[in-house]
Amino acid sequence: MKRTEALSIKKKIKTGKEIERITQHLKKQGKRIVTYNGSFDVLHVGHIKSIQEAKAQGDILIILLNSDASIRIYKGPNRPIVSQRERIIMIAAIDAVDYVSVFNDINPKKVLARIKPNVHCNGSDWGRSCIERKVVEENGGRIYILRWERGHSTTDLIKKILDVYRQPAIKAVFLDRDGTVNLNKKGYVHKIADFEFAPHVFDALKKLSKTDYKIIIVTNQSGIGRRYYTQEDFEKLNAWILEEFSKKKIRIDRVYYCHHTLKDRCGCRKPNVGMFIQAVKDFGISLNNSWFIGDNKTDMIAGREANVKTIKLGERMPKALKLQPHYYAKDLQQAADIILNNE
Ligand SMILES: [Mg+2]
Ligand SMILES: [Zn+2]
Repeated sequence: MKRTEALSIKKKIKTGKEIERITQHLKKQGKRIVTYNGSFDVLHVGHIKSIQEAKAQGDILIILLNSDASIRIYKGPNRPIVSQRERIIMIAAIDAVDYVSVFNDINPKKVLARIKPNVHCNGSDWGRSCIERKVVEENGGRIYILRWERGHSTTDLIKKILDVYRQPAIKAVFLDRDGTVNLNKKGYVHKIADFEFAPHVFDALKKLSKTDYKIIIVTNQSGIGRRYYTQEDFEKLNAWILEEFSKKKIRIDRVYYCHHTLKDRCGCRKPNVGMFIQAVKDFGISLNNSWFIGDNKTDMIAGREANVKTIKLGERMPKALKLQPHYYAKDLQQAADIILNNE
């Protein structure tokens, strides 16, 4: 924040005494003073709209902000969520607000008796028969009921947040295939006879199978696009791999593969993130709670792009890429341990 912005926010924050003096002065200049009070705890669009509507009722808008102590009394000991030190800064930063002042009582009658606003605004939940009506009208002011429909309340917002966080996030361990799950000596592995599981694959995946992590293979198979082998060859090998895993009680939840070549400019070929996005759609996975283990730099680029935590097997990333995985591991076993230790 620029220094001048911070200053202009600070200038809006006044004590009760200062506010009284300022309003007397402004009234002499013929300004119409509007007041609106509330706790404005966990600011939301409903607050902003109602503050803007309040401002439209006169020239100068004063927000009377309930102190933490007063909120604790009328909303219970767990509120406010946001302290008055922070609430006052947020309210003062709103363009429509001219002044903001904290008050300590559970209703603003005393402050209103001193300020004597021309208009005092109130939410439709309290209505015209609000407790402040008498003191406002006795001092020549009127009550204005804000039209802004609630629908947005801090309490509703908090309930929504609790609902979201009550459900545990669905997490995944994404695995590259060739060079990660199996050795990739000659490249373009597509025959069962040439398929050699990498060291410690079974132990590592058995451990992960016992967790809540979805285990998902994401593999580039441009050998199909290059016509080195067919989709059927891939499917046949894939079925065999899954069978071997299932014999060992290893759970693989899904295998995604991209059969394109670079020329196809698809969105699924790593380092593109299409296969990760598909997994999000299919399983509701939360990517920032998920992991990707791969042996290639393109795996790490894809992982970082997809906002998952990345573990690279084998050699280090080329410096020129200016991109590092979160971890390096010597094999899948070590990678699985990193994940489990991060729980
Ligand atoms: Mg690989
Ligand atoms: Zn593709």
